Amino acid sequence: MPTDESTGNGTKTEVPSPIVFQCGNCRQIVADSTTWIRGTPELNTFTLQIVPSETITAAESLSTSADSFDLGSTYTQFSCSNCSQVLGMIYHTTPRHLDEIRDNYTFYTSSLKNYQIGSDASAQDPPPTDADFAILKPLPDALAQRMAIMETLIMAMHDDIERLNEEVATLRSGGSKRK
Ligand SMILES: [Zn+2]
Repeated sequence: MPTDESTGNGTKTEVPSPIVFQCGNCRQIVADSTTWIRGTPELNTFTLQIVPSETITAAESLSTSADSFDLGSTYTQFSCSNCSQVLGMIYHTTPRHLDEIRDNYTFYTSSLKNYQIGSDASAQDPPPTDADFAILKPLPDALAQRMAIMETLIMAMHDDIERLNEEVATLRSGGSKRK
């Protein structure tokens, strides 16, 4: 029985870069796509398995959905730890067709901004669809996840460095001379 050992036989499979999700309000990085489970267009949400605990704050109160698609589901919402914008919810009970997202982190796509690591433009595009991520799914490789986390950190540091560079440039053009 053939396993999916990847022999570099000329055909190179493109591994898509992870997508980083930022709070749509304050731009704090809240998660990335490496633990993507699924998108749910009917709810305008997507669901991740793992979210760094320091980026979100979970609410205490349990709500019950009255919408048809997830009718009767109970969930607690969570918000950005930096600015308190509500970002999504954690389902505690779901109808059967949503079993997959129960106990995971379901984000409102409208509450986030996203960009793809490795591309220059921070994406103003509509949020990614499930199809965009189908190819990401078989890759919850531990090393890949760690790489993604590092890349996320580097992106965050990059912002800081840019800001520092600007300040240095401002100071220099201010003409302060060193002896
Ligand atoms: Zn925020």
